Amino acid sequence: MSTLAAGLETHGDGSPFVRLEDVVRRSAAHDPEGTALIEPGRRVTFAELDASSNRFARALLADGVQPGDRVCHIGENSAAFFDVLYGAGKAGAIPVPMNFRLAPPEVLHIVEDVQPRVVVLGAGMEHHGAAIAAVPGVARVVTVEPADGLTDLSTWTSEQPATDPGIARDPEDTAVMFYTSGTTGRPKGIELTGVNVSSSLACPLSLVRFDRASVALAPVPFFHVTGFGLALMANLKGSALLMINPQGPADLLRVFQEYRVSHGVLVPTVIQFMLDLPESRTGDWSALRCLMYGGAPMPESVLRDATDVFGCDFIQGYGLTESTGGVAFLAPEDHRTTPETVHRLRSVGRVRGGNELRVIDPRTGADQPPGERGEVLVRGGNIMKRYWNRPEETAAAIDADGWLHTGDGGSLDADGYLYLHDRLKDMIVSGGENVYPAEVESVLTAHPGVAQVAVIGVPSDRWGESPMAIVVRSSGPEGAALDAAAVIGWARERLAHYKCPVDVAFVDALPLNASGKLLKARLREEFAGS
Ligand code: AMP
Repeated sequence: MSTLAAGLETHGDGSPFVRLEDVVRRSAAHDPEGTALIEPGRRVTFAELDASSNRFARALLADGVQPGDRVCHIGENSAAFFDVLYGAGKAGAIPVPMNFRLAPPEVLHIVEDVQPRVVVLGAGMEHHGAAIAAVPGVARVVTVEPADGLTDLSTWTSEQPATDPGIARDPEDTAVMFYTSGTTGRPKGIELTGVNVSSSLACPLSLVRFDRASVALAPVPFFHVTGFGLALMANLKGSALLMINPQGPADLLRVFQEYRVSHGVLVPTVIQFMLDLPESRTGDWSALRCLMYGGAPMPESVLRDATDVFGCDFIQGYGLTESTGGVAFLAPEDHRTTPETVHRLRSVGRVRGGNELRVIDPRTGADQPPGERGEVLVRGGNIMKRYWNRPEETAAAIDADGWLHTGDGGSLDADGYLYLHDRLKDMIVSGGENVYPAEVESVLTAHPGVAQVAVIGVPSDRWGESPMAIVVRSSGPEGAALDAAAVIGWARERLAHYKCPVDVAFVDALPLNASGKLLKARLREEFAGS
């Protein structure tokens, strides 16, 4: 760590910054009065955000926080989140944005694992305070709303000068940590360096084209790399970032229009929920320039509908928290297909930026030829430093040549576009045949009576495993009339027999985690007893 010199370095390859905290320093220097954040009834300029994160950094330093100490934030998207993100960085500490939807025992598990010095609780999170304060090593619990026995954020930081403490973290040091969303097993801490973060933004920035007139909305949480990436890009480019947390799809449609949002990032299910509302068809989408999506499969029918309704650019990203978000992108021009390229809408795009991507046969490690399925591997500036305190799991995830083994099943076409199939462990083996749930799901989603569907393997005496469909009926008459025989019949007309569900369950909603990912493990527990 060195003292911050005048001016800001750039990467050797010309990308704009190497330190997370430089984002706010840079925008405050370029456009101090520009709007950084919009909260309901409040606007925060870049100069104000720079100053408040400086105060936060100084409050940490006054508490004796040391380089590399962790500072957690648990709360919805808010201005306080950025004080923690940039302020911890400016103090040489590591911000850890945590999932605010977790239950108290899950929160405690992460706090005990990451051992923070300071924990900041956003509005409505005060109930976690007492248990967190009792965790050894936690020196202070700070709340945004006043709470008995805990430190009030504004009182604590207002005593501090608003000048930058002038600490510059090494770009190779851990800049931020996220916990895996945990669709399987216990969440793991993922250490991302300044270089990882910087590298992860270079490509999306070239596709997204933010400017000072842009208004960005991330109705996905900032504790996940997708929302985090959008927030950083907006802050870096001097765009305004909305700190509004819409309550449901109707509210989201309203917020998009009322604030004339130009850029948004959404998970596919939320796009679908918005399109399911009739008011999406009559809305004013003239301000909307770009919607980014990813994190989970996007049904082609939803993508086509979204293109018709919103009429904006679309960008898909594929990546993992371990790869600091997107490494492959389906660019706006990829969405404007011709009959020769229309199949690309089923892909997640191709690798861009300074990363490499391969698909290998997981048994032999050899590269698969185009069209053959295997495991997706990624290497490059985006790949995490390591899992926090888990050397064996780090070694299992990143091989000696630096390739991250994603656990995703995929195939590349001859033009380098990546098609995802399934997580390797979600694959069903029925009578010796591989059944890829995503293929069955995409056929069933095309039924007008099906709003959403998940396909899992259930034990079968005869075949080892057989596919089962868990279906959410659509709201119209086709949904009301849908029964198991209709679902199975639809599949049989379109798929090989061994891929067709042998059983169907109807549910009101599929279990999703906080970043919109389907929790197949939970469905397997409920329906397959595993
Ligand atoms: P996370 O670390 O929580 O972001 O989860 C990463 C996982 O999300 C990947 O390993 C994929 O299985 C899935 N994923 C990411 N992007 C996409 C995408 N564009 N389409 C389908 N699945 C995706």
